[in-house]
Amino acid sequence: MIVNMSSDATEEQIQHVIDRIKECGYQPHLIRGAERAVIGAVGKSDHHRNQLEALRAAPGVEEIIPIAHPFKLVSRQMRPERTMVEVRGVRIGGGDVVVMAGPCSVESREQLLQTARGVKAAGAHMLRGGAYKPRTSPYDFQGLGVEALQILKEAREETGLPVVTEVMSTEEIETVSEYADMLQVGARNMQNFPLLRRLATTPRPILLKRSPSATIKEWLLAAEYLVAGGNPNVVLCERGIKTFETEMRNTLDLAGVALAKELSHLPVVVDPSHATGRRSLVPAAARAAVAIGADGLLIEVHPCPERALSDGPQSLDLGGFAELMRGLAEPLLRFSTPNGRS
Ligand code: PEP
Ligand code: MN
Repeated sequence: MIVNMSSDATEEQIQHVIDRIKECGYQPHLIRGAERAVIGAVGKSDHHRNQLEALRAAPGVEEIIPIAHPFKLVSRQMRPERTMVEVRGVRIGGGDVVVMAGPCSVESREQLLQTARGVKAAGAHMLRGGAYKPRTSPYDFQGLGVEALQILKEAREETGLPVVTEVMSTEEIETVSEYADMLQVGARNMQNFPLLRRLATTPRPILLKRSPSATIKEWLLAAEYLVAGGNPNVVLCERGIKTFETEMRNTLDLAGVALAKELSHLPVVVDPSHATGRRSLVPAAARAAVAIGADGLLIEVHPCPERALSDGPQSLDLGGFAELMRGLAEPLLRFSTPNGRS
């Protein structure tokens, strides 16, 4: 349920509604908009639902509306304004496209520092790099762990780029949080509920990747775990889903990005590297993502992709990344109205 307070509701009236929601066995979530306060009542205490509806008569309440979707706190219904997530001064969802770039895995100090300098020079806003890698085969490179985190920290100190890196299990959260500015939940862990519950209590913003087999509803429900558990700083990341297509690693669900933004107030970024699995397609997919309204991009970059220990075929080299950055405005430049270029 959403309780819309009237624009002149007093603090006492807002507090009264919050107290009643708790008494009815629901959790209150207060959102103060520019015009009015909105209080979401979420929970599963269905036998007190009537009492909650009776709050319609409470002073300062304008209306009570049921939330149409199973995801509540992340829905646009709950919060029509868009959420902006700040990562060490970089604003995701603030209007400008935020580019996070770096290698799939941190492999060495030289490799990461060279990449960090290169992507920074090309205009990236954040640095990515895996320290703990979720690999399909147990025989593949599993990441350098804490050593990689230390290297990422050094790169941030030198370049000023905030760092995003994956956390795979609850035991790693504390260590990864010491070094990283944003914690990535990998596609394979999107529905790892114990992990989501713990991440909900960390102060770090979360980049929540969509599982290749998740519907938009499941993806938003995973985000709901984080927000309901107390972490409002969630960024969604579309990284391709499984379809019958076999020529690409995954299929980039572009319309799903637009739908996620229609249904949710959370920022949505796109990872064209994992979505396509092919270096040659990454720039075009990135431009399409920007054109459809993505709030940012996550791009894999390696100084020498042929030597990469993971995801070389989809990694751009530094020159390729600089070119991608130059081409991002292209969809707009190619648009012309009957009166000429807009
Ligand atoms: C990654 O970002 O390197 C990664 C493993 O991504 P995903 O979880 O989307 O496969
Ligand atoms: Mn990768």
